[in-house]
Amino acid sequence: MNKQLRKAVIAGNWKMNKTPAEAKELIEGIKPLVKNADCDVVVCVPYVDLSVVLEATKGTNIGVGAENCHWENSGAFTGEISAPMLTSMGVQYVIIGHSERRTYFGETDQTVNKRIRAALNAGLNVILCVGESLEQREQGITAELVAMQTKIALCGVTKEELKKMIIAYEPIWAIGTGKTATAQQANEVCAVIRSVIADLYGKDAADAFTIQYGGSMNAKNAAELLAQPDVDGGLIGGASLKPADFAEIVKAASK
Ligand code: PEP
Repeated sequence: MNKQLRKAVIAGNWKMNKTPAEAKELIEGIKPLVKNADCDVVVCVPYVDLSVVLEATKGTNIGVGAENCHWENSGAFTGEISAPMLTSMGVQYVIIGHSERRTYFGETDQTVNKRIRAALNAGLNVILCVGESLEQREQGITAELVAMQTKIALCGVTKEELKKMIIAYEPIWAIGTGKTATAQQANEVCAVIRSVIADLYGKDAADAFTIQYGGSMNAKNAAELLAQPDVDGGLIGGASLKPADFAEIVKAASK
């Protein structure tokens, strides 16, 4: 597999942090530090921050994403936001299936699939999150579980649509915990995901497909993780809220 075929993508996930005023300050801090990046840079932000971050990133190399979207275009779904609502604002990316949504908000592999199809239909780029709990890792079912999450999520997604997707391997036990997967663990599971993509869509699609690692990636450990042959980028939570740390990760991915 040739890593050079793939685009490195570093995406921040701001989660439920930052008011619009704070978001403006944060993005203004990030902008100058990543302007020479030799990888794709994305920030996924709370819905209420989208306007201010879209405005602040106009004409820059930073893409903007949301952290979820509903599977219907409109209707009686109080509190939800649809994919066409996001694209109408100029949003380009959306995270789907983050483990925090799976754990706290009843997200299932089936609803993940519905959201992905809606997002792709609207023209969004999707960052799909998959990953195992500590218990599942200890049971030795990580590879099977991640393969199944990936297959269900991609049900009905065409080879052409796959070009607008990224998968982030995010072991749940590593998210926000300060415990990072070893570079070898991260690479092993990213390789499993790539082999699922190869089975479903062919080797050419798998070779060109961007797979991120996420889970306590930071300025110190990013270079080693990103040097792995099947790790093409990172989905970054905590460190994406610190401009200098986020920029260091972007720098590591630009090598
Ligand atoms: C995430 O939220 O996707 C994530 C990886 O968080 P953290 O980097 O804080 O572990």
